[in-house]
Amino acid sequence: MKIISTPLELKKVLQENQKSVGFVPTMGALHEGHISLIRKAKEENELVVVSIFVNPTQFLKGEDLDKYPKKDEADKVICELCDVDILFFPKADDIYMEDEVSILAPNVRGFVLEGASRPSHFNGVLTVVMKLLNIVNPTKAYFGKKDAQQLNLITLMVKQFFMDVEIVPVDTVREKDGLALSSRNVYLSDKERVEALKISASLKEATNMISKNILDVDSIKDKMLEILNPLEISYVEILNRDFEYLKCVEVGNSVILVEAKVGDTRLLDNIWL
Ligand code: AMP
Repeated sequence: MKIISTPLELKKVLQENQKSVGFVPTMGALHEGHISLIRKAKEENELVVVSIFVNPTQFLKGEDLDKYPKKDEADKVICELCDVDILFFPKADDIYMEDEVSILAPNVRGFVLEGASRPSHFNGVLTVVMKLLNIVNPTKAYFGKKDAQQLNLITLMVKQFFMDVEIVPVDTVREKDGLALSSRNVYLSDKERVEALKISASLKEATNMISKNILDVDSIKDKMLEILNPLEISYVEILNRDFEYLKCVEVGNSVILVEAKVGDTRLLDNIWL
């Protein structure tokens, strides 16, 4: 595995390459969720590039940028074991320059849900993803469905900017008890870890209701809120796959999304129906 830290060096190596390239962008502290993206990329491409970059522009003031979990050595070992070809490990000033051009998230879809609780977050996400995709120029890039709004906006950006990359969504990996894997789960105390299970439990109950043909969005949301109580909830929403609000679940075209705070930790989860 080659470890490369500058965009120019990576571009040079990749320009000499004729193979199909699968790209997995991450912020490190790798877990089984990231590994499932890497595995899919390995299956579908001749060469796999993983990036580890904790992108400062997607964190708002007062968020956890400074304490975001860092496991550089373990991450390198995981990438080696997953047979990653190139690990791209840039520093902030390799990626950002002075007086930056930036990508703005769309006015509606970028500022609802997580975009409402974290205004400007998706500007930072889209800007860094645009930069990384331009550096790597992959055939396919892999993103988790767990960050459903992020995935939706990246897909939109790639389409609207006529970019030549296929965005591949990957299913959410969970712990045995249902908790969606996240690098931020390490912030949870034992007690909070138990409380956090209410999030996946509420999504499971929503699936149960839908399987009994209860499709009314308000009834499902009420039941979910009951289960999530007393967590601090940012949103519980049921949308179609284009992120438009629904009155009734459309099976095969819906996403149910939850963001809740457990202690000081913001956790996201969703289910695609
Ligand atoms: P992050 O390092 O949190 O920025 O995540 C990097 C990529 O891994 C993103 O595309 C995430 O959506 C994806 N990801 C994070 N957690 C999971 C999970 N539990 N299952 C599948 N993909 C995930």
